[in-house]
Amino acid sequence: MAQEGRNFMTDKKSSDQPTKKQGRGRPREIDPRTVVESADHYRIVFLQFWPKLGARLLAAQSPEEVAKAVREEAPDISASLDRYSELILKIVNDPKFPRARSKSQIHFLADSLGGHGFVTPRRSREICAEERTKKKYFIVRREYYIECSCGYKGPALDGACRDCGTEELSWDLMMKEND
Ligand SMILES: [Zn+2]
Repeated sequence: MAQEGRNFMTDKKSSDQPTKKQGRGRPREIDPRTVVESADHYRIVFLQFWPKLGARLLAAQSPEEVAKAVREEAPDISASLDRYSELILKIVNDPKFPRARSKSQIHFLADSLGGHGFVTPRRSREICAEERTKKKYFIVRREYYIECSCGYKGPALDGACRDCGTEELSWDLMMKEND
């Protein structure tokens, strides 16, 4: 199992390690946020090229064919994906790789690749799922404190007084805000 930690090896750092082996690393420290950020980026990128790229990746028989497919169908990203050809081949050959829907395929590949081989593709997908769950809460309302001439004091409701419903500002307040 990979350990959680803050000392993720960035791309910059990993380029200093030319002997890096893809997909079969020992447990290493990896920042889960970085994994999901990469995965999110890949999701967007693959979506753009998938109609042609997807079919060719699925048909590829070797890392060389993967690299060629990326080079020809997604030239914008071929430089950054070049060293992951072997990993990509492994991912698309995974028995769990979705056979039907493009969207599922893109997500599976992107999330598996987010760990860049520092963790297994499966662990990478788990990290993405865990991180995305954490992000499920959003602020859906933001209120502020008001005092209304009707007597109400407290949080506003959608910018209005909760008691009388007015949204109008007093003359004094308008003058102050325009200062
Ligand atoms: Zn009021």
